[in-house]
Amino acid sequence: MNFTGKNVLVTGASRGIGAQIAKVLATKGLKVWINYRSKPEIADALQAEIEAAGGKAAVIKFDATDEDEYIKGINLIIDTDGELSYLVNNAGITNDKLALRMKTDEFKSVVDTNLLSAFIGSREALKVMSKKRFGAVVSIASIVGEMGNAGQVNYSASKGGMIAMSKSFAKEGASRNVRFNCVTPGFIATDMTDALSDEVKANYAKNIPLARFGEASEVAEAVAFLLSDSASYITGETLKVNGGLYM
Ligand code: NAP
Repeated sequence: MNFTGKNVLVTGASRGIGAQIAKVLATKGLKVWINYRSKPEIADALQAEIEAAGGKAAVIKFDATDEDEYIKGINLIIDTDGELSYLVNNAGITNDKLALRMKTDEFKSVVDTNLLSAFIGSREALKVMSKKRFGAVVSIASIVGEMGNAGQVNYSASKGGMIAMSKSFAKEGASRNVRFNCVTPGFIATDMTDALSDEVKANYAKNIPLARFGEASEVAEAVAFLLSDSASYITGETLKVNGGLYM
């Protein structure tokens, strides 16, 4: 993979899968823009860790659901580096509840954070990447967007929407050499899945052919592949990283 001279924006990169994506992409030569929303100390520490390992990184604060802030963020990146080469739509939340008890606001806030933010980012990325006739976007969707999950009608709608939206972006971006793909992680060990009880985690793990939760770094390697020139003929695709749970 040759990423020399290129940069990438990773949303929600202060912790979890986003932080691992930032680290892995930095080791492959990309300058990484670490987006954070609420915890500057964690984002700063990640930047320091990447730089100490010889990589290039910068932090950038915005709420990915706030269109004005997001666009200002992309403008800052372009003013600094002259381009945005790659984008990873990673920022995401859950707010689980059985559908019969879910309030409309609880549905909307998850869809806004996961899907609307990916729309804003993908649209702005397509604008700037089109001018260079070069770029790639990877959206972190979820196995739940492929198979559904009780208690997650909001999350599954947002993630299924990301998969469909990415295919449409892929069709619009192809003539400008801008590729759009998704990665759909299964159960990955992060704060998001730590919230599950040990019993629920054990039950999920029993059904995973590889018999364990995945590591964030395993998602990050799939992202690196899809962004890279090794995937130059792949667009509109969804790469499952789920230990075989959904084939
Ligand atoms: P996590 O540990 O909860 O981290 C989520 C990250 O997203 C945090 O850095 C958070 O920032 C950020 N974020 C949330 N809302 C944001 C917003 N409006 N603007 C900017 N940043 C925002 O979650 P994770 O497990 O790493 O998940 C990362 C992505 O992978 C999500 O899209 C998730 O849906 C997806 N995924 C995860 C799993 C899994 O098993 N863990 C499986 C499938 C898909 P703050 O620190 O400010 O909250």
